Amino acid sequence: MAGAFGTVFMPEMSISWFDGNGWTTPQMVASDHIPIHPAAHVLHYSSTCFDGQKAFKHSDGSVYTFRIEDNIERFAQSSRLLHLPTIDQDVTKEMTMALLEKYADDVPDTPGSMYIRPTHIGTDVSIGKAAAPSSTSAVYILLSPVGDYFASGDKALKLLVDEHDMRCAPHVGMVKSGGNYASALHPIMSARAEHDVDQVLFSPDGIVQETGASNFIMIDGDELITPALNTSFLHGITRDSILTLARDAGYRVNECELSVSEVIERAQKPETEASLPGTAAVLAPVGELLYAGKTYTVGSGKPGPKTLALRKRLNDIQWGLAKDTHGWLTKVR
Ligand SMILES: *Cc1c(COP(=O)(O)O)cnc(C)c1O
Repeated sequence: MAGAFGTVFMPEMSISWFDGNGWTTPQMVASDHIPIHPAAHVLHYSSTCFDGQKAFKHSDGSVYTFRIEDNIERFAQSSRLLHLPTIDQDVTKEMTMALLEKYADDVPDTPGSMYIRPTHIGTDVSIGKAAAPSSTSAVYILLSPVGDYFASGDKALKLLVDEHDMRCAPHVGMVKSGGNYASALHPIMSARAEHDVDQVLFSPDGIVQETGASNFIMIDGDELITPALNTSFLHGITRDSILTLARDAGYRVNECELSVSEVIERAQKPETEASLPGTAAVLAPVGELLYAGKTYTVGSGKPGPKTLALRKRLNDIQWGLAKDTHGWLTKVR
């Protein structure tokens, strides 16, 4: 498969339209275009949400989704918080499974996977609804084969700790909605241009939230520390999975209000580790924090052994190399 992450698609997608009263029977259609009006609500007022998950091919050729019901539950919650029409979660799951069954042969071997992108858009033809929801919409599901995220090596990332900017408005951080990514872009681009960092750790008023597209975790001894869930950041399913596996492994998991000063203090201990959980990278190691003009190395500055062990533990379950003790996998074929 050629192309950067997220640029290659299966030729068909599954789509269902809501006309204000009911949903059309899902259809498989060409995935390279969608007929919507230039005045569609989504194009002006960002009535859009999505989700992201992966399907994996095991060595015997069987294909599994990972925590699909949790992903669809979050997709339904995002739709609800954007006042988009209510999705049918069972139908959304059936659409995903039927599409994956059809393209099961195209699911890449591990460490690759098939990325699944359900999307919900407001389709009302009205530029007069700036402060009103779209009463019509479409849900569609795209499949995108992806390769090994760490193919070019596992380098520890450098983050700018930003105490001033917010990633998005704090009441919609847990919605996977297009507008949130647009609003985070300027701080991220400025940080990259001015400070040569990989990502921004948004920490308004000195309280850590997350980066542009992944959550934040620290490991200090046998303690795993991460911000407790609130509306200001995305409730990652990878975060939740890693926390579960960390508890299984005997870590004390501490979900708390995490201040920048605590992060900087703990980072300076020689064995501290930090990482970013998210579906794409699973757990990306963090090696440096740039804060108030000073660079702080996190522990050794290299990908940490505990971080890599937790990532392997999750990958092993996803890839069928370890027992799925939490019932996270659903068989496609
Ligand atoms: C999707 C996403 C995450 C990670 O969620 P996962 O369910 O682990 O993939 C974290 N932060 C943001 C802003 C996201 O969009």
